[in-house]
Amino acid sequence: MKKLLLVLMLAGLAVSQPLPARPGGGHSSSSHSSSSSHSSGGWSHSGSSWSTHDSSSSSSGTAHPMSSLEALILFIIVVVIVIILIRSQAGARSVVTAPPAQYRAQRQQSIAEQIAALKQADANFSAVVFLDFAHSLYCKFYEYSTKPEFSYLSPFLSTELQGHFQRSQPWTVSEIVVNSLRWLEINTAGSDTETITVEFDANYTLDLQDQRSRYAVVERWQFYRRKGLLSAEPEKMQSVNCPQCGAPAHFTDAGVCGYCGANVQKGDAQWCLGKRVVVATHAVPAVAGLAAYAEEQGTQAITIKQADLIEQMNRWQQRYGIGEWQQFWLPFENDVVGNYFTAIYGHWSRRDWQAARHLLSDRLYETNAFWQKMYVERGWFNRLDHLRIEQIVLAKIDSDKFYEAITVRIFAACNDYTEDAGGKIVGGSKTSLRRFSEYWTFVRRSGKERQDKPYSLSQCPSCGAPADNMGQSGECGYCGSKISTGQFSWVLFLIEQDEVYCG
Ligand SMILES: [Zn+2]
Ligand SMILES: [Zn+2]
Repeated sequence: MKKLLLVLMLAGLAVSQPLPARPGGGHSSSSHSSSSSHSSGGWSHSGSSWSTHDSSSSSSGTAHPMSSLEALILFIIVVVIVIILIRSQAGARSVVTAPPAQYRAQRQQSIAEQIAALKQADANFSAVVFLDFAHSLYCKFYEYSTKPEFSYLSPFLSTELQGHFQRSQPWTVSEIVVNSLRWLEINTAGSDTETITVEFDANYTLDLQDQRSRYAVVERWQFYRRKGLLSAEPEKMQSVNCPQCGAPAHFTDAGVCGYCGANVQKGDAQWCLGKRVVVATHAVPAVAGLAAYAEEQGTQAITIKQADLIEQMNRWQQRYGIGEWQQFWLPFENDVVGNYFTAIYGHWSRRDWQAARHLLSDRLYETNAFWQKMYVERGWFNRLDHLRIEQIVLAKIDSDKFYEAITVRIFAACNDYTEDAGGKIVGGSKTSLRRFSEYWTFVRRSGKERQDKPYSLSQCPSCGAPADNMGQSGECGYCGSKISTGQFSWVLFLIEQDEVYCG
C-alpha cells in the first residue's frame, strides 16, 4: 500500500505491468512506464516538440471530425502505443526502465532553476498553488466536457480549446483521477508571455450509450500568461474561480464573470491553457491491477537531494530562530512524518480512508478515495501488516510566500497483500516482507507568527475538537475551517515513487 497514490490502476493497464497494490503503489510506476517509453526525448522536453494542441480526439472519442493533421498525429500515437505494448510483452518486467537517478537529479536542478527565475519576477508564485490550480482545471475540463458548464472554463482555455468539445455529445466523463502531475518546463524567456508545461498521468471513465470504459492517459498541458504578472493569493488561485473577484466561476462563452461582470482576458490575470497534447491513451479494465504486485523498483537508488539543501536548512533555522537543526527535525520526523505515515497507511488498510481526511491534500484524498472505492466494490482489503519505517531521509525544502514544503524519502517494509471478504488472499504475500521507499511531500502555509502546537493526529489543528467530523472537502465539522490546504498544520501533499521522483 504504500504507495498511496494510487496506483494501480493505471498501471496495470497501461503496460500490462502488474503493480503493487498499495495506495501510492505501483500505480505511478505504471504511469511512468507509459510516459517514459513513448519517446526518448520525453524527459528532456523542450517547447519545440509541440505539434498542434490537439491530438486529443483520440481520447475524446466522437467529439469532432478529425483534420488530416489530427489523423496523422493519431496514427503516430497508435503506432507508438503498439510498439510500447509489443515491447512490454517481450521485455517482461524490466521494460520499465526509469531514467537513472543522476539524470532525474539534473532535471530537478534545472526545474528548480526555472522556478527560481519565475519567482524572481513574480514574488507571489507558489509551486504548490500552481499544481493545485492545474489539477483542478484538469478535472473540470473533463467533468464539464459535454455540459453547459464548460463555458465556466472560458477564461482558462485558449479559444481553440474552448471550442474543443462539441456540446451535447452522447458521452460523459466521470471519475477523473490524476495519479501524477510533473513539471516539464517553465519558460520565462519569451518577450510577451511566459509558459509552464506539465505532464499529467490520469485516468477517467467514459460513458457512451450503455458502454462504460476506463482510460489511462498521459497528457502534456502548456499554460501561458502575460509576462510580468504577480500571482493572486492562493484563495483566488487555487481553484478555477474568477481571477478578478474570486467568485466560483460562472462565465459566459465570451469570458464575462457572472458575479463581477469583469471581462477576463485569457492569460491576463491567471494562467490559461494554450496547448494540450495527449501523449498516450489506453483503455484499461477498471479493476485490473487491484491485486497485482510488481517488484519494487528504485528502492536501492540513491536519494535525490536538492542541490542546495544545506543552505535551505540554514535558512529554515534562521527563519524560525532555531539553533540546532535537530530541534526542528526530530519532532518533524517523528510527529509528522512517522505518525502521518503510520496513520495514513493504517486507514488505507482498514478502508476507512475518510478518517485520514484531515491529514491529506484534496488531490491526494480524492485520488485514493477512488481506489478505495474500487476495493470496497469488490469487497477486498489491501492489508499492510507489520508496517514499519526503516529510515527517513530529508530530500528537499521549498518555501515561497505562501507555502512551505518539505520532501522526505521514507524507507519502509510491510507484509503487503490483498484479501477478499472471506479472508482469501488474492494478491501479494502475508509472509514475505516487502521493502519499498517513497518520496512524501508535506506542505503547510508559510507564516512566521504561527504558533506550532504539538501535533495531534486525532484533533482538528484549528479548533482542537476531535478530528472525527471532517467533510469530504476537508472542512472541520465543528469549526468549519478547511484543513486540507495546510493553513493550520502540515498536510501530505504528494507521494512519489522512488523510480520516478525528480524533485
Ligand atoms: Zn468575477
Ligand atoms: Zn475544527
